[in-house]
Amino acid sequence: MQHELKGIEEAGIYKKERVITSAQGAIIRVADGNDVLNFCSNNYLGLSNNSQLKEAATKALKTHGYGVSSVRFICGTQDLHKKLEAAIARFFGTEDTILYAACFDANGGVFEPLLNEEDAIISDALNHASIIDGIRLCKAQRYRYANADMSDLELQLKVAQSQRFRLIVTDGVFSMDGNVAPLDKIYSLAEKYNAMVMIDESHSAGVVGETGRGVTERYNLRGKIEIITGTLGKAFGGAIGGFTTGKREIIDLLRQRSRPYLFSNSIPPMVAAAGIRMFEMMDETNELQEKLHKNTAYFIEKMKSAGFDIKPTESAISAVMLYDARLSEKMAAKLLDEGIYVTGFYYPVVPKGQARIRVQISAAHELEHLDKCIAAFSKVGKDLNVI
Ligand SMILES: *Cc1c(COP(=O)(O)O)cnc(C)c1O
Repeated sequence: MQHELKGIEEAGIYKKERVITSAQGAIIRVADGNDVLNFCSNNYLGLSNNSQLKEAATKALKTHGYGVSSVRFICGTQDLHKKLEAAIARFFGTEDTILYAACFDANGGVFEPLLNEEDAIISDALNHASIIDGIRLCKAQRYRYANADMSDLELQLKVAQSQRFRLIVTDGVFSMDGNVAPLDKIYSLAEKYNAMVMIDESHSAGVVGETGRGVTERYNLRGKIEIITGTLGKAFGGAIGGFTTGKREIIDLLRQRSRPYLFSNSIPPMVAAAGIRMFEMMDETNELQEKLHKNTAYFIEKMKSAGFDIKPTESAISAVMLYDARLSEKMAAKLLDEGIYVTGFYYPVVPKGQARIRVQISAAHELEHLDKCIAAFSKVGKDLNVI
């Protein structure tokens, strides 16, 4: 193992954790005591340190305690869990919801209870690791199509016609480029070839669609998709928790058979209560979603006119393309010297020759933060001959 670790270090892909000593937000304090502008969190709606959510969590801590010390079906279901499940279903326009400790668990526990060796799972090549792992735990036949490539998907659907059920699986937003899955076309193909659809809205919920209801809103498909998975750990407050929401029979069956649900603890009451408050806030106003959309459009336009190469995106993710791994690392380090906290991504996280800096915009950002970020990118970009 020491040898293995040395190999990872020598390959330059050893991941170090950077320590933050403040709450999550637009401005964070890093371990050396400096305050920096944060452009690499999934805090899309700026709710990670929201006072209303903290108040709801504090109140639940007093009324419902710290933990439940049980799985849901033994003695771990509080009224808060049921309310949160209903709130999630209302938000997505679905029939029912089942909570998990994380979306990793939701995806890990969704396939095996529903499908067997007679069935087919047809999965986008760039789907999240948790989807890939969930599929591995299931006996269904596996098919893969190139990222968002509808002719490849159609080809796979044709091959899978002899199977009993077909399930097409896609991320809503692909986290490295920020592109949105073409759910309208996926849905048409699913109808044509008699398949079900599952979408993971982790990076799209709260972000994509006019009111942030996700990719199903973006394509007018609310209530039409069989399975939606998502996380409470990104736009929705950023604490912990995942869910599967969709058709009633599917959720029912998952409650009976999904292993991460049956054999893992309920989420803490404070997290459930804050989640309920969060969805109430979403019902009251779309202010945060609108601010996020405005911020994102502003950032992309200014960066493009500064000369940066940004991948086509419809989310809060902007991939600033640099192509060279060392350059992306160097640029991220120089940006940190300018007080801008971003991360360089390179092989094996993205394909070779596709190195980039991923910028994530938040409703927590003010115009001055965006301007400071764009100015720093421009300065460092010129220094490094990127623009
Ligand atoms: C972040 C993410 C997950 C994991 O969510 P957790 O709740 O943190 O486990 C799953 N799927 C996708 C697409 C994600 O982006």
